[in-house]
Amino acid sequence: MTTLTRTRRDTRSRTRRAIAAVAPLALLAFGASPAPAAMIGGASPDATPEVTSLRCPAGTAGDVVQCPRGEVLRLSGENLRDARAVVFLGGKGSRDDRRATPTTSSPHRVLVKVPSGAKSGRVRVISRRAGASAPGPALQILPASRVTPASVGSGAEGIFPVRGKHDFGTEVNGFGGGRGHQGQDILANCGVPIVSALSGEIQHVAFQSAAGNYVVVQADDGTSQAYMHMREPSTWKKGQPVKAGEQLGVVGQTGRASACHLHFEMWTAPGWYLGGEPIDPLPVLKQWDNQAAGS
Ligand SMILES: [Zn+2]
Repeated sequence: MTTLTRTRRDTRSRTRRAIAAVAPLALLAFGASPAPAAMIGGASPDATPEVTSLRCPAGTAGDVVQCPRGEVLRLSGENLRDARAVVFLGGKGSRDDRRATPTTSSPHRVLVKVPSGAKSGRVRVISRRAGASAPGPALQILPASRVTPASVGSGAEGIFPVRGKHDFGTEVNGFGGGRGHQGQDILANCGVPIVSALSGEIQHVAFQSAAGNYVVVQADDGTSQAYMHMREPSTWKKGQPVKAGEQLGVVGQTGRASACHLHFEMWTAPGWYLGGEPIDPLPVLKQWDNQAAGS
């Protein structure tokens, strides 16, 4: 065998070439099966989208959900991954219809900012492949709010993410402390549980040389929270719904970290690397921390 005399590096690139050569065959075989999409376990991409409920963290819930223009509306339902537009149908006829592009879409959830001209009425989703959903639940549009509750997340509903003894360190641990520090460090012992501060959906799970093991949650209001340096890779998967208080992992010091701590980031809607931007999470962290201490 000639490979015996090759370096390890050569062998590796050979293996990669071999995989590349096999992959198209595998795809062909898969494409020939009768219902590949169904086999994956999800609905077919051609299935008609359906909107079953609406939620607007910045508005109020009731028989009819209310949402101010400019705020993030969450549509829940089926077959929503392929959504390319949300149509706010307003009153009768199409003249007052307003379209908006979703900031996020996953099989059961679409987030969209209520466009400025939207009128109260039903809401439907247009899927790239399967066309329009039936008109969904009614939405009452409110004038744009002057305050921006979405910018710091649903503070009141949040839970402090570290379930143990902790502190916020010094200036270098704060937002903007040190070069490009985009979050707040929460110093705690390795092994202390980390929970999701807000309810939402797992947006990202990965390992990165600086962040270590990390998870990003996109909350229902479109903001994102990142949890970094976790001791082990999280068992959560992208797209899974997560409730505030559910455990994401434990404090560690993976990646670029000199001590056990949680590096916590808070991004404005529409979220982490989806057009949002990082903000100082310390005020809202302190609010949650005080709530925990007072309860
Ligand atoms: Zn940090």
